[in-house]
Amino acid sequence: KFSSAHRLGFGSANPTSKIPLGLKRKGLRIVVTGGAGFVGSHLVDRLIARGDSVIVVDNFFTGRKQNVMHHFGNPNFELIRHDVVEPLLLEVDQIYHLACPASPVHYKFNPVKTIISFILLQNLITGLLQACLAKRVGARFLLTSTSEVYGDPLQHPQKETYWGNVNPIGVRSCYDEGKRTAETLTMDYHRGAGVEVRIARIFNTYGPRMCIDDGRVVSNFVAQAIRKEPLTVYGDGKQTRSFQYVSDLVEGLMRLMEGEHIGPFNLGNPGEFTMLELAEVVQETIDPNAKIEFRPNTEDDPHKRKPDISRAKELLGWEPKVSLRKGLPLMVSDFRQRIFGDHKEGSN
Ligand code: NAD
Ligand code: UDP
Repeated sequence: KFSSAHRLGFGSANPTSKIPLGLKRKGLRIVVTGGAGFVGSHLVDRLIARGDSVIVVDNFFTGRKQNVMHHFGNPNFELIRHDVVEPLLLEVDQIYHLACPASPVHYKFNPVKTIISFILLQNLITGLLQACLAKRVGARFLLTSTSEVYGDPLQHPQKETYWGNVNPIGVRSCYDEGKRTAETLTMDYHRGAGVEVRIARIFNTYGPRMCIDDGRVVSNFVAQAIRKEPLTVYGDGKQTRSFQYVSDLVEGLMRLMEGEHIGPFNLGNPGEFTMLELAEVVQETIDPNAKIEFRPNTEDDPHKRKPDISRAKELLGWEPKVSLRKGLPLMVSDFRQRIFGDHKEGSN
């Protein structure tokens, strides 16, 4: 059911594949698309700390220079302002592809651009393939897919073998179907052109550097509690999500990239919370007096979501370490600083 390590037809296999994480080896050249965003910037920090050379490609739609500016002046760091729907030729060892508006508010903002950008992912992979041929070494492409490929799941918890329950014509389809298309393209390039690929299905992730006003539930509740505003619970608040702290995700992404298995792998924390329970944790962590205000829910909101992570445990030796109650306080000081500090949110 899993492909074993796939050797490219046009060069040596990836040089890192046999080296366990953390061991010293020659630095790689790595592209992180969307590297100025929330998850991407944490990944960049880990890669730079490991001694790799990192090129961030970002159009700053939701990302910010502030997330990576601590690397400015480091010869191992480069930042390119570029929209990934346009072709880009870079000779690199690995591509972590994260560029994509991730919050429902952002991906619904221009849904046609969202769905088209997934189809144009072809440009990025073709560029990678040409660069591989030019350099005559294998390079790896890691796609950050999402738990949204399961839609409003009829299987609970969700295993990677589940094909999902997605509305193809709904308001979330530009993202859900887009990511499904991206998985299809990634696998077709693997099967048809021998590109070495990895696929991660990421479940709801939170932590410092999330966009403060991007509408996602954790960033909304934390910002609302800090600003002494009511926590806005959509619908009856009984829908569930499983929240993962960002450092756990970054560890999982790196293990997946360096490992021998294509995936897809669920990367998420199996701790499942209703939105009302999440609101309680935010009250306990930030302000016990924070009020709750109910608002109408959005269309096609999935009722429940929880990853089965047995596959990642067994094959990547990975599981999350940070519980919601431990992780939430770790993002509060960053949010307080950005909300009350003189730093201007959203400025590039
Ligand atoms: P984010 O919005 O903070 O980061 C996305 C980054 O991509 C931003 O820096 C943005 O400017 C950049 N970007 C967007 N479109 C681009 C384009 N066309 N060209 C170049 N750059 C572009 O979001 P995030 O939470 O860090 O998510 C990163 C990835 O992980 C996304 O692909 C997302 O779909 C996936 N994911 C995230 C979560 C989560 O809970 N955070 C869950 C599932 C999947
Ligand atoms: N949600 C909420 N209040 C908010 C924002 C979101 O109750 O202020 C709910 C939303 O309806 C959904 C859940 O929180 O059921 C997770 O929403 P989010 O946008 O964070 O992620 P996704 O729906 O993509 O999993």
